[in-house]
Amino acid sequence: MRELSESEIRASFVNCSKGEARRLSLPRGLSELPWTDLDFLGWRDPGAPDRGYLVVERDGAPVGVTLRVPSVRRSLAKSNICSLCITTHAGSGVALLTARRAGAAGREGNTVGNYVCADLACSLYVRGLKRSAAVSRPEESLTLDEQIERTVGNLDAFLAKVLA
Ligand SMILES: [Zn+2]
Repeated sequence: MRELSESEIRASFVNCSKGEARRLSLPRGLSELPWTDLDFLGWRDPGAPDRGYLVVERDGAPVGVTLRVPSVRRSLAKSNICSLCITTHAGSGVALLTARRAGAAGREGNTVGNYVCADLACSLYVRGLKRSAAVSRPEESLTLDEQIERTVGNLDAFLAKVLA
């Protein structure tokens, strides 16, 4: 994706108040991020562990979504596969992240949830740029470009639900 400025990122959020978008913590060192290897910008809030954010270009404009990690009933079946990039993590590497839906639905408390790499680094896992013993990628018959396309498509489907 192309490099975004702080003001572009703050102006991109579709599911939170302008005040929240103004105050939320951005990733450190924006200009040093590996933008060309990112399909979307995703980060967790270092000061608020239950919050995360993602920003992706959609129809040529950045769209930002705030995410929460709901404090729920741990007994529910939990996935350890990221639904965006299909990376498998051990332990707590995959988190259920929920987004308040944009507009009236969100104001009524409607959310959309998705199991995603907890550090939101899907782009780097797909490209093999971030690895650890706790992470495994499936044996793929898809090329890297196809895997990237699949990740972007999965993210787009998630965004479509948030924006619907
Ligand atoms: Zn992922």
